[in-house]
Amino acid sequence: MSGSRPRAIIVGIGTECSSFAPHRTAMADFGVRVGDRVLDRFPAVQAGRFGEVDFVPGPVSRALPGGPVLRAVYDALLHDVLAAVRHGAPWDGVLLDIHGAMLVDGLDDAEADLAEQVRDAAGGADVVLAAAMDLHGQVSRDFAQLVDLPTCYRTAPHVDESDTRDRAAGLLARALTSGVSPARAWCRIPVALPGEKTSTRVEPAASLYRSLANPPDGVWEAALWVGYAWADEPRTSAAVVVVGEDLGAIQRECARLAEEFVAARDAFTFCGPTGSLSWALDEAAAATDGTFFVSDTGDNPTAGGSGDVATTLDTLLADRRVTDGAGDAIWTALVDPDGVRAAQRVGVGGDFDERVGGCFGWPARVGLRGVVRRLVSDGSGDVALIAVGRLQVLLTTRRTPFHTVADYARIGVDVTRTKLVINKIGYLEPELDAVSSGWAMALTEGPVDQRIDHLHFERLQHPLHPFDAIDDSWRAEVEVFGFAQ
Ligand SMILES: [Zn+2]
Repeated sequence: MSGSRPRAIIVGIGTECSSFAPHRTAMADFGVRVGDRVLDRFPAVQAGRFGEVDFVPGPVSRALPGGPVLRAVYDALLHDVLAAVRHGAPWDGVLLDIHGAMLVDGLDDAEADLAEQVRDAAGGADVVLAAAMDLHGQVSRDFAQLVDLPTCYRTAPHVDESDTRDRAAGLLARALTSGVSPARAWCRIPVALPGEKTSTRVEPAASLYRSLANPPDGVWEAALWVGYAWADEPRTSAAVVVVGEDLGAIQRECARLAEEFVAARDAFTFCGPTGSLSWALDEAAAATDGTFFVSDTGDNPTAGGSGDVATTLDTLLADRRVTDGAGDAIWTALVDPDGVRAAQRVGVGGDFDERVGGCFGWPARVGLRGVVRRLVSDGSGDVALIAVGRLQVLLTTRRTPFHTVADYARIGVDVTRTKLVINKIGYLEPELDAVSSGWAMALTEGPVDQRIDHLHFERLQHPLHPFDAIDDSWRAEVEVFGFAQ
């Protein structure tokens, strides 16, 4: 009876891109998984929980967030995805393992393009498409029309990635084996929020996301996307999709979520103490013991920052409390390959005197005079630590997030013995949070400036909060797709 079991292929191209980052995401930035390394991302699939469906791994590529993907790179990755899909076609189902906020040079709504091409290659209209996404992904009307069963994380910071992927696989298995074709209700929510205002650990996101766990009868899955605010394209907004077999129930649940989200729009606030960089340094100076963290939020590489914005360094070098304070301070990290090479040329203990920053084109270069304290070269790229008094400035050859104690240990720094850590990051990742004695988020400039109304957008669809006033009488306009007429 082999051959009668439904077959589904898992494929994806995933990243998150800021329109304002001068960086471009290239092939070297992507890691491509195939075979078991794809299935590793789906523990329940691997454990055989959906054994009635054959899940077949195709190529799944991911890149660190950054600037838009070069068109030729997307085309090459797509070519490999389509070749794998065509090779085993026709398929009963496809599971897209994607982020959902990818920008590609010269192509709007990249995920809708991916979904359309994959659907065509897999067998056309009868193929069931599911998608496992980040809640910071975007769901345009076109995408909602193309993908039968989209869903996304329910936590930020994200702690339910593999649960979400397994849930998407379960939805696909249910659709392929139950004989039921569920419909979906979609609604654009006219709100754009920066990531650091949407932590699901605090209200109003906590309650909204908690409510997804117990959907009404007739609803298979309710999914809520915060969206990605730093993309200057028409689809940028929050969105909701509710999948199920009861048309009335999915429309009501979709409208409820959209309207509650809009009603709460002003209640989404920064998930920690937030202010200017100078305010954050005042907070740090007032802290007496332990390690104080300042998030340099505007150029956070894991949100799509380019990593080459040096503006914060200018302020740090001018602050004697940082350079000549009672304890060590470190700023991580500025990608500056020329700076690293200059440090390597003079060696440890040598004098460093270069202008740094802007290697991708961000218009800010800063003079940095200090002493080369340490040089590290390993598989993660070369780095140089430049000391200016008590402040150490980390230069890297690659865009590198510092999210764990081990990330710092790799460069020879014990964060727990460092008084002040200024980090290109948003909300603190759990491990850094656990070792911090205090924390402040600094609103700094960069491609992911949390003050999104400071950025110059040209292509958004209006109205969109916070750029436009949304009337309190706003009511959801829900569209239904996939209903068998
Ligand atoms: Zn995310």
